[in-house]
This record gives sequence, C-alpha cells and structure tokens, in this order.
Amino acid sequence: MNEPNARCWERYARCAPTHSDSLFANNAEQKAIREICFDCPVRMHCLAQALEEGMNYGVWGGLTERERRVLLRSQPEQSRWAEWLRRSDDPLARRLREPRDPAIYRFLRRGQNQKYTGSSSQPKNGID
Ligand code: SF4
Repeated sequence: MNEPNARCWERYARCAPTHSDSLFANNAEQKAIREICFDCPVRMHCLAQALEEGMNYGVWGGLTERERRVLLRSQPEQSRWAEWLRRSDDPLARRLREPRDPAIYRFLRRGQNQKYTGSSSQPKNGID
C-alpha cells in the first residue's frame, strides 16, 4: 500500500465505514472501538485531524475525546499536530506513535515527560 497522504487517508481507515459509530459510544464502548485503531495504518493522520480540527466527540486515532483534551491541554502552544506526531522526538509523540494504548493519563502523571508535568509526581494544569 502506498503511504497515505493528508488528503486521502480516510480510504485506508480500518474502521471505515463505521467510524460514526464511535462518535456517540459510551466510555466502555469507546475502549473496545479504539482497539482497532492501534492496528490502523492511518492512525496518526486521523489523530492529527481530530486535534487540528477540534473534534470533540468519539474515538479518533486511538484516543477518546477525554484523552485528546488532556493532550491538547498538555501542549497549549502546539498548532502543527500532524508534523509533531509524525516527526517529533518528544517522548509523548514517540509514545503516541507506538501501536498500543498510550495510557496518556499515566504517562503524564508519572512525569515521564517532565516538560508537561513540571515535576516527577505532581500533575500540572489539572491533568488527571
Ligand atoms: S485510527 Fe481508528 S478511528 Fe481513526 S481511521 Fe483508524 S480505525 Fe478509524
């Protein structure tokens, strides 16, 4: 398969054509739905679009809306999410590129990236 680009990634979506099912799922259902994301070839494109366009509902790129809010709050200055997700050496970006649940709350809470938490044990900006 050719590398999907920013314009055509949806045709490679593993969830197609059912992505809309994830938009109104409850928390337990979202966790099940997002499992397919971690094997999706366009996950980073999907997540970048959700972050850049402010998608407020559903699972996108393997993250629930709550997880995306935490990610957005962790980097209020970020505007080029696609580039950051694709190329950044930031530990959080590397974590998000891995084909598994990034456990974003635990990652930020544990202070594995002190740039976001400000200490090794205390969350910043109400990240919970
Ligand atoms: S990452 Fe998940 S929600 Fe996004 S296109 Fe792939 S399967 Fe669908």
